[in-house]
Amino acid sequence: MSKKKVATVSLAGCFGCHMSFLDMDLELLDLIDLIQFDRSPLTDIKTFKHRVDIGLIEGGVCNDHNLHVLRDFRQHCDVLISLGECAIMGGLPAMRNDIPLSECLNEAYLGVPTAIKNSTIIPHHEDLPKILDRVYPCHELVKIDYFLTGCPPSGEVIALALKSLLRGDLTIPRELIKYD
Ligand code: SF4
Repeated sequence: MSKKKVATVSLAGCFGCHMSFLDMDLELLDLIDLIQFDRSPLTDIKTFKHRVDIGLIEGGVCNDHNLHVLRDFRQHCDVLISLGECAIMGGLPAMRNDIPLSECLNEAYLGVPTAIKNSTIIPHHEDLPKILDRVYPCHELVKIDYFLTGCPPSGEVIALALKSLLRGDLTIPRELIKYD
């Protein structure tokens, strides 16, 4: 049986969901017989080499580069999974959603003790990603097929999800699902 292709990415996340992926320990050895990683921080492959069967998205969307990457994943993945609370609800970065963006930037660049005295300049450059008005959960911007809850979902759950999807349906025992 040919290996299924899997891609992963971290958008506005902390990489904790990817750490959890690695935390599956010996399960990873079983999994590696079934899957092959394409684009992923785990392989350091930064662009898609092939269309893939399963994409896992960690983190929500906080800037236009995140949005571009998310759309690229939707385009290249047969099945797309929001992995963890940040991808599903925006997570901690979404705490800024109730505050106007201009206020956030003023506080971050002008209001901190390390700011240059009397400066009114908020750093920007055309090569830097543009920050969006708020942090978006992935499913508000593209179609997401499955959601793996938890902060982060455990390695066991990620392994089970991938293995069951490879069999054709995603089934996780209820007692393993967390909503933190
Ligand atoms: Fe990190 Fe939790 Fe967000 Fe995953 S869900 S990226 S572990 S904060």
